[in-house]
Amino acid sequence: MIEIPARRGKALHLRRGQKARVVNTKGQQVVDTWAFNAADLSEFMSMEHSRVAMGRIIPAIGDALVTNRRRPILTLVEDNSGGIHDTLFAACDCWRYELLGSEGYHDNCTDNLAAAMRELGLAAAETPAPLNLFMNIPVLDGNRVEARAPVSTPGRARDAPDRGACRDFGLSRGAAIPGGSACRCRSAAAAADKPISCGRRRHSR
Ligand SMILES: [Zn+2]
Repeated sequence: MIEIPARRGKALHLRRGQKARVVNTKGQQVVDTWAFNAADLSEFMSMEHSRVAMGRIIPAIGDALVTNRRRPILTLVEDNSGGIHDTLFAACDCWRYELLGSEGYHDNCTDNLAAAMRELGLAAAETPAPLNLFMNIPVLDGNRVEARAPVSTPGRARDAPDRGACRDFGLSRGAAIPGGSACRCRSAAAAADKPISCGRRRHSR
């Protein structure tokens, strides 16, 4: 199990069939999540392509998230978090914090992704739109979007998912490099500086 410190990112390799579990250990945290084809980083999990493939804006259990070449890269296999996630909002970056009035450098998910990839000796050419785990962005009146507090509550990394006590999100596949960043975007109303956990699971599917 890897802890993603608050306002930092982590990346790991996944083989085909391996699962990654993201546990919102403190609750109320948002985790920007990406996946890349390990053999070709120009192919990555794409939210715009995934929304087309899923026919909805929030993935449900069994949904495959697809790449910019429309191939499945991660499948949602468990979700005990309350099922509220976001596929609409871009990752935060230094320019967003500048717009929000932040003075000086502010940690952000775009830089966190780059740093996490660097730890694996990799560099992605761009920052794709992330799957924002636990981020609560309801669409109001069929058009407006509004950032609200996440509904997820703290989960425990060691809880078995079938006991229903774990607030986590399981993703499956492989030959993929998921990267996650613990976000403190102001757009996520109640997201705070809290760590989360992420780990591979042995069971393949
Ligand atoms: Zn962020």
